[in-house]
Amino acid sequence: MDAETLRPYLEYYQDLGITMLYRRAAPAQPDQQVPEAPAREPLFRILEDIGDCHRCRLCEQRTHIVFGVGNEQTKLVFVGEGPGADEDAQGIPFVGRAGQLLTQMIEGTAKKEGIPLLRKDVYICNVVKCRPPENRTPQPDEMEMCGQFLTRQLLALAPKAICALGSTAAKYLTQSKEGVTRMRGNWYRWHDIPVMVTYHPSYLLRAYNVGPKREAWEDLKKVLHFVYD
Ligand code: URA
Repeated sequence: MDAETLRPYLEYYQDLGITMLYRRAAPAQPDQQVPEAPAREPLFRILEDIGDCHRCRLCEQRTHIVFGVGNEQTKLVFVGEGPGADEDAQGIPFVGRAGQLLTQMIEGTAKKEGIPLLRKDVYICNVVKCRPPENRTPQPDEMEMCGQFLTRQLLALAPKAICALGSTAAKYLTQSKEGVTRMRGNWYRWHDIPVMVTYHPSYLLRAYNVGPKREAWEDLKKVLHFVYD
C-alpha cells in the first residue's frame, strides 16, 4: 500500500486515539529463515524519551516523574493509578501507606503460598507517571498521553501476567466499562498478556469490612500461582 492510500487509515486510527501501531511479521515461508525475535526495548530508552516531560498539565505540580521500580526480567507487573505525595517526593511508586500494604500483600501472600517472592522481584508502575493534584483521578487526555510510555514499558517487560490495581488501571488496560467490584478476580487481556484485576491498596486501607481485603488476597493468590507455578 502506498503512502497516499495508507494516510486516511492512519488518520482514522488517530481520531480513535490510537497513536502507535505495531507491524506484525509476515508468516515465514518454508524455505525462508525465521528471523530472530527483535530485541526488547530497554527501559532506560523509554525513560530517556520521557525526559523532562511537559506533554500534559500533570508536569506543573510534580516533583519527580515516577517511572517504575523492580526487576526488569520479572514475570509479573503491578500497575497502579498514579503517584501520590510520597511517591512524588521520592520518585518511586507505591512507597506510601498504600505501597506498604501492597508490599505486605505481595510478600505475605507469596510466603503463605510457598512462593519465594519479594517486592523487588516484581515490577511496579502506574498509568500516569506524575502525581495528579490532590490525588485526583487522572483525566482521559493525561492517561492517553502518558499511556504511550506505559505501553512501551509493558511491551519491554513482556511479563507473563499483569495485575491491575484498582479501577483506573483496570479500565485503562482492559477498556472495560465495568466497575472494579465486578471486574476483580477475573482475567482480562492486554496485548495478549493476561491481566488480573484487583482492588487498589488505598481502597483496602479505607475499607472498614474484611470482605474486600479477603477478596484482594484471593486475587493475588490467583495471579501468583498462574505466574510462578
Ligand atoms: N497509588 C498509586 O496508584 N500509585 C502509587 O504509586 C501510589 C499510590
